Amino acid sequence: MGQGNWGPEEVNRPRTRIHHGRGLKELTEGAERKVISDITDLPGVGPSTAQKLIEAGYTTVEAIAVATPQELSQVTGIPIVTAQKIIEAAREALNIDFKTAYDLKLESINRRKITTGSRNLDELLGGGIETKTITELFGEFGSGKTQICHQLAVNVQLPEDKGGLEGKAVYIDTEGTFRWERIEQMARGVGLDPDEAMRNIYWIRAINSHHQIAIVDKLFDMVKKENIKLVVVDSVTGHFRAEFPGRENLAMRQQLLNRHLHQLMRLADIFNIAVVITNQVMARPDVFYGDPTQAVGGHVLGHAPGVRVQLKKSRGNKRIARIVDAPHLPEGETVFVITEWGIRDPE
Ligand code: ADP
Ligand code: MG
Repeated sequence: MGQGNWGPEEVNRPRTRIHHGRGLKELTEGAERKVISDITDLPGVGPSTAQKLIEAGYTTVEAIAVATPQELSQVTGIPIVTAQKIIEAAREALNIDFKTAYDLKLESINRRKITTGSRNLDELLGGGIETKTITELFGEFGSGKTQICHQLAVNVQLPEDKGGLEGKAVYIDTEGTFRWERIEQMARGVGLDPDEAMRNIYWIRAINSHHQIAIVDKLFDMVKKENIKLVVVDSVTGHFRAEFPGRENLAMRQQLLNRHLHQLMRLADIFNIAVVITNQVMARPDVFYGDPTQAVGGHVLGHAPGVRVQLKKSRGNKRIARIVDAPHLPEGETVFVITEWGIRDPE
């Protein structure tokens, strides 16, 4: 059994303790570097403006930094020019500005990886699921998307030398397929205390696309406080497809979905965390000629940065994974299995 695989025989390994709040020695979090932590610290934000912003849901510097002047002005009644200045101040506070290529190099060094539990799959991904990146898992029903998400929510809690980030996970469940029982099994499978592992996963059911977006807004506040290192959205597309069906709604749907993806990207980037989204596509895209996002292969990330992993069913518990359009990752396919203990390499 290779590195990245932990069998049930290791159940009695010492328990991992999860740090609460900060404590990890990351250099990364631009958000933590500056002392501006409250929106009232921003120049131009007095008590009455702060009140308006908070009432409109812009409770954090991060949330303001990723807003557009138009939307901020619209929901708060602040003039656009003022909104623009506040946003600029927020971006400055978070160091969202020109960077040198060398800065980019330093940032990439700060990227971390979470093991999937399968060495094959990790290798295909260049070492695991990356932070500062959105990873999209797409594939037909039963292809293993939800199982991988469960596994990552457990594995993110592992110590770094076991392929984790000693952090917690947020699981945004849009389809009601999250199972704590599965977390319990998978935690045993990697030698974590099951109750502790379950306490480190914050689950929320998103009831519609609007709610789904609002949840991610709130995460800008929560991620740092709770030492969240992984955010899962399973599935990212379900509500959007249901609420905006057919070709005639496609533009609207894509626009909202893009906004959502943008939010998620900022979250991944600002806090150096991993974001994993799932997207169910039909096994036979030709049946879906009416829906171009399905027919072209189904992934939602499109040209947005991120890693797209296509999953397919194979014999028995075997699944095939393939990376789509990622020039920096190796070509080809790999096989993993879904076992009682979670995601593993085939025997
Ligand atoms: P989807 O891609 O639709 O999200 P899932 O990730 O839910 O698919 O995969 C479902 C598959 O996972 C099941 O068909 C089964 O093969 C496997 N599976 C689920 N639970 C277990 C378990 N406790 N033990 C072994 N395999 C499981
Ligand atoms: Mg699923």
